[in-house]
Amino acid sequence: MPGEPPARQVRATRRDPIGMRYCANCGSEIRFGPVPGESRERHACPVCQAIFYQNPKIVVATLPLLPPDRLVLIRRGIEPGYGLWGYPGGFLELGETVEEGAVRETWEETGYEVELGPSVGIYSRPQAGVVVLVFAARVIGGAPRLSPETLEVRAFAPAELPWSELAFPTVRQALQDWLAGPRGRPPQTVAG
Ligand SMILES: [Zn+2]
Repeated sequence: MPGEPPARQVRATRRDPIGMRYCANCGSEIRFGPVPGESRERHACPVCQAIFYQNPKIVVATLPLLPPDRLVLIRRGIEPGYGLWGYPGGFLELGETVEEGAVRETWEETGYEVELGPSVGIYSRPQAGVVVLVFAARVIGGAPRLSPETLEVRAFAPAELPWSELAFPTVRQALQDWLAGPRGRPPQTVAG
């Protein structure tokens, strides 16, 4: 005897990494697939026709220089990359400039107040669905502080950077770019 059909299982797949289920407008079940007029498959509502575009998120991060020459990194207390070293950073919030977001995230994750320098680089990570903006920065106040997301805050001399324990390929690339300069060269401290 046939029972009720099983509820449609919506889960993330390679083709549909989001697995969005319900329409935010009308509550109907979303479909993922071809949509007239769109060049690629979309999440769309078959009832009210709303299309839910998915776009990469922006991550803002800093490489804070602790004068004279040490670089502040954090050991991550959250996945991905739990226990590995990365730069302070996080998702840009609505209503924030990238500079404000980078300074805020650095404060939240390290306890350091920073002044931003030049951009070190802009890095696309299509598989992770993020674009990462990394700024050189200089510590101008505060003191190292742990948070639920931070296991350790440590300042490394350039020769002691933990290359074998970095959280993401972007961290490695940004550190290489920072060391190579000149775009990544931190603001210089000039005596006198
Ligand atoms: Zn709808």
